[in-house]
Amino acid sequence: MSEITAANLISMFAEIAKAMAESKAHLCELDGVIGDADHGIAMDLGFSTVATNLAAPDITAADPTTVFNTAAKSFLNAVGASSGPLYATAFMRAGASVKGKTVLTASDFADAFIAMAKGIQDRGKAEIGDKTMIDAWVPAAEAVESAKTQGASLAEILDKAGKAAEAGAEATKAMIASKGRSARLGERAIGHIDPGAASTAILIRAMGKGLG
Ligand code: ADP
Ligand code: MG
Ligand code: MG
Repeated sequence: MSEITAANLISMFAEIAKAMAESKAHLCELDGVIGDADHGIAMDLGFSTVATNLAAPDITAADPTTVFNTAAKSFLNAVGASSGPLYATAFMRAGASVKGKTVLTASDFADAFIAMAKGIQDRGKAEIGDKTMIDAWVPAAEAVESAKTQGASLAEILDKAGKAAEAGAEATKAMIASKGRSARLGERAIGHIDPGAASTAILIRAMGKGLG
């Protein structure tokens, strides 16, 4: 896809909602080991609410910024867990980054993606190595940046981002958490993937599918 419209973004969020519904049990299982077992519920509820709210006729006719802002508000209202404000900030920042544009190029979408990662980092203050979703989002954003610089297509950009997020999620296995609920576990968190990093990889793969 070389031009992304509001309708394409709505399809993308629908694809993310589908992927989170399918991964709900798996993500709750991961969170059950090092957290409070609700991450799958949070992501499923958050994105199903986003998809429902984006199906309203006035949104279908809107611009990309409105789609991202609606997603942000819907996610924040639906999700009480710590992922709620993190993803709400991500989508608000994505909306701000494409303000005034009715159609997005691959490069515009790359900028929105990078803004999402930055928003999560600004909001949650986690760094690489803290065993959070940042361990998937930051390498994914770096992959997006370098693919964008090389003039890659949107499909290539998101494929590289997906691979980087998967590797980043896998790397959280070896980490001790210093942010979020699992921080209290100390070394007992070693050997287990961070659920937020796992869902990030799923989300980015679904983005690729939804915009493919
Ligand atoms: P809660 O821990 O409130 O139940 P969730 O289960 O929905 O929330 O999300 C847990 C995930 O949130 C963790 O696996 C981690 O990836 C992410 N997370 C927690 N705190 C932060 C933070 N400060 N910055 C980035 N990600 C975080
Ligand atoms: Mg949880
Ligand atoms: Mg919780």
